[in-house]
Amino acid sequence: MNAVPRRRWRELPPTAGLPLRWRDLLPGPAPALDRQLAPMLGVDRLQLTCSGTAALVIALRTLSAASHRREVIVPAYTCPLVALAVAHCGLTLKVCDLLPGSLQPDPAMLADLCNTGTLAIVPAHLAGRVVDIAPVCAIAAGYGAFVIEDAAQALGARHADGTVVGALGDIGFYSLAAGKGLTLYEGGLLLSRHPRLQAALHETAAAIAPYRLFRELRRCIELAGYAALYGPHGLRWAYGAPLRRALRHNDPIGAAGDRFPRHIPLHRVGHWRQRVGAHACLRWPDYIESTRRSGMQLRSRLHTIPGIDIVADAPGAQGVWPALLLLLPSADAATRALNALWGEGLGVGRPFVHVLPDYDYLQDLVAPAQVPNARDFAARAVSIGNSPWMRECDLQRIMDTLAAACR
Ligand SMILES: *Cc1c(COP(=O)(O)O)cnc(C)c1O
Repeated sequence: MNAVPRRRWRELPPTAGLPLRWRDLLPGPAPALDRQLAPMLGVDRLQLTCSGTAALVIALRTLSAASHRREVIVPAYTCPLVALAVAHCGLTLKVCDLLPGSLQPDPAMLADLCNTGTLAIVPAHLAGRVVDIAPVCAIAAGYGAFVIEDAAQALGARHADGTVVGALGDIGFYSLAAGKGLTLYEGGLLLSRHPRLQAALHETAAAIAPYRLFRELRRCIELAGYAALYGPHGLRWAYGAPLRRALRHNDPIGAAGDRFPRHIPLHRVGHWRQRVGAHACLRWPDYIESTRRSGMQLRSRLHTIPGIDIVADAPGAQGVWPALLLLLPSADAATRALNALWGEGLGVGRPFVHVLPDYDYLQDLVAPAQVPNARDFAARAVSIGNSPWMRECDLQRIMDTLAAACR
């Protein structure tokens, strides 16, 4: 990629995570994380899961147990874990295109794909950006399909009517993985606005996700490692080094963290990690507010670069700001920008490298599809972590490089 790598002593994260404090790790009384977070979101009940993917598996298993329908429609541009979760449940995946230059699913294609075999549609709020799910719900309702909101990257975002994302569909889920804000290193939250469905989700989880001691011990060590290393110095080793190794090997999928194992662990989250999350959760509302403020500032600076389109929320919605998602004017411009910035320790990278049908390793799970807008989005997308450690000189370098790439 770059001819002469600079010496880097600092590494900015690709998304603004909520840093843990040592005191979070100490034993001590704390209310359950799910019960503490539910009123902050304005929902009755939340269910803690071992990952966002596990939450989706629990949702799909619950719905498919009560239905003969076997198809799940997802946006063509979303996390590969979504495709793996659908396959894990023995269901068939269909991918829907996006509207041009937008994360909004294309309603015409969605209506074409949807039929009486459709179990669920899974719209995604990527990078904290809120999509309008009203058209999705209308199409789903026409065929008796469920809507599962993938809010893995948007915990705390709100729809235009003030409802938290995840609570407007039939089921919603969030991720508490490292890199997605509030984290247990791996974790997830699941909710349904229908009390009976919520109870059924709970039963499914109890049946398919038992306590696993060794898995939990491993996650505890990983969470402690995250707490120790999440900062501009530690991230250089924990995040930057493997990223640069992948880039040196010409492996953008590895660099973006888009390659996932087939196996989806399903287990309960232990008490210690729950308590760490519950302690950190007390700082979460302030964190959401401060990242919103810095996100707005970053956005107004980036707006001054001609040709750059900053992906926005659906009208009236209030997203969250772990990162800023940009569309460059062309795939070539995005490639030029990434060649100069990715791996430079500035928190600039690609959200997902491909649309789902274009990942080699998913080819047996995702059929080829005509999704030109989503493919164009994937080729032009660049993300910038909204990190509190970004300095003016870092931002200047990013802006100069983006401006040059767009010319
Ligand atoms: C991360 C992610 C998931 C899966 O969440 P995990 O907690 O990592 O299992 C699902 N959907 C999207 C859009 C994601 O970004």
